[in-house]
Amino acid sequence: MLVRVRGLFKVWGLLPLLAGGLVVEGNAQVADVVLLGGRVWSGPGSPVSGRGVATAIAAADGRILAVGSDQEVLRFVGPSTERIDLGGRRVVPGFMDAHTHFIDGGFELAGVQLRDAATPDEFARRIGEYAAAHPGEWVTGGTWDHELWGGELPRRDWIDSLTSHSPVFVSRLDGHMGLANSRALELAGVTVGTPDPEGGTIVRYPDGRPTGILKDAAQALVGRVIPGPSEAELDRALGSAIGHAAARGVTLITDMGSWPGHEAYRRAYARGELDIRVYSVVPIGTWQRLADYVAREGRGDHHLFWGGVKGFVDGSLGSTTAWFYEPYVDEPSTSGLMVTDTAQLRRAIIAADSAGLHVIIHAIGDQANDWLLGVYAEARKGKAPRDRRFRIEHAQHLTRDAIRRIARDAVIPSMQPYHAIDDGRWAVKRIGPERVKTTYAFRDLEDAGAHLAFGSDWTVAPLDPLLGIYAAVTRRTLDGANPGGWVPEQKITVEEAVAAYTANNAYACSLEEVLGTLEPGKYADLVVLADDIFSIDPVEIEHAKVDLTMVGGKVVYRRLDSEE
Ligand SMILES: [Zn+2]
Repeated sequence: MLVRVRGLFKVWGLLPLLAGGLVVEGNAQVADVVLLGGRVWSGPGSPVSGRGVATAIAAADGRILAVGSDQEVLRFVGPSTERIDLGGRRVVPGFMDAHTHFIDGGFELAGVQLRDAATPDEFARRIGEYAAAHPGEWVTGGTWDHELWGGELPRRDWIDSLTSHSPVFVSRLDGHMGLANSRALELAGVTVGTPDPEGGTIVRYPDGRPTGILKDAAQALVGRVIPGPSEAELDRALGSAIGHAAARGVTLITDMGSWPGHEAYRRAYARGELDIRVYSVVPIGTWQRLADYVAREGRGDHHLFWGGVKGFVDGSLGSTTAWFYEPYVDEPSTSGLMVTDTAQLRRAIIAADSAGLHVIIHAIGDQANDWLLGVYAEARKGKAPRDRRFRIEHAQHLTRDAIRRIARDAVIPSMQPYHAIDDGRWAVKRIGPERVKTTYAFRDLEDAGAHLAFGSDWTVAPLDPLLGIYAAVTRRTLDGANPGGWVPEQKITVEEAVAAYTANNAYACSLEEVLGTLEPGKYADLVVLADDIFSIDPVEIEHAKVDLTMVGGKVVYRRLDSEE
């Protein structure tokens, strides 16, 4: 049952009543599905093992009827009830991912794969092969990582001879720079005479000709000549992304998306194919359009909802464009940059907030985070208190004062633990030993009382909550150089990490009344794990598998069909 409402935020007061009506009535309610014989972690504070651990769940009409012992749940079984035998396996609430570029992810699944290209030769070979297999088409996506071969930026001369007939614009995994080949630069009209645009850099050979690397705002020079996808292509990409997410136990994503993407979600929902909950967020530059849209159409329901806008303060650490107080250690001429006009972004944040929209802003460097906290404080000032839940995406490098302010002002740090074990390989050479102490400061944020929400930033990192939990708990960098954890003081527990992917994430979407924990009345969104992440050695969590994913009582993924 989906509660379709205009202004869904207002209806929550009624939910306990709805839930109560579902649960009691002398067991008149018959479950559509029951899960029996497992170990249920229903949410923060619920026991992990021993006495008091629930073993079973019953659901009907998409919502949970009961969580308890097998005996308690068997009372809801009728002739038509589907039974799933858990065989002792662990059940957790459905994972939610607070930060994805979801449809881009769907495109990436079918595009050129550069994420693990570990040498310049491999990088070039894969681009060449992809171009040969898709003659004349743009080669985009890729998510390459030049740190894998020591940090030398790729250049168009590496790939030109292999791609003379195909324009190429492949992105670094953080999306803050891309490599164009000569054909793409030609189509975009980028030449030796093109000046660096505001907020961006055209990397050049010593003689001034562009190497093909375009940083931050300079990427738009090529981006604007790449043809946009058709509706059918968007729908296909979304379909692959949904399947990919379901197999990883993801039942809700926040998409840092676009209007064409938003329409794709609505089409998929109308066709009954949106097997995942989606918070569809659009760029803050379009806040007025969103405000009008909300006035006309409401904010959606608990399955597909909107009302949030996303903006950027700065760039990224990998591209040395995250905005710090102090210069980069390995590039002392810069301390990063604001990728948007600050005055304009400040106005947009305050205006969007005043229009009742949810403000979600990317900030990575310490100065960027402080700037944003200041604007959030300004937006609140002199206005009636409101449950705003301002979000900072990444909140990656924080001063100790910023950690306190985030908690005090109830700003949500929306973070991606995989980035810690990825960037942790080289962050110290970029920002030195002092600043890394409060980099990805999960422990300090938890201790300060912040609502830490986790996500992947897919396609920047893999869409895989179990890998994210592993990263937050172990902080073992991808290169194996930190077996005891990189900045180990910032590790958190498995339960805290799972909560950041479930209950806290529901809070970050203002849906904690209906999602995020396994309790009667809430939606039956859950994951059955093949491996019990609460009892295995945390270093094994990265290999843990999802066996079954359920969204609103519907099984959307089963790993081993034969088991049921
Ligand atoms: Zn992102």
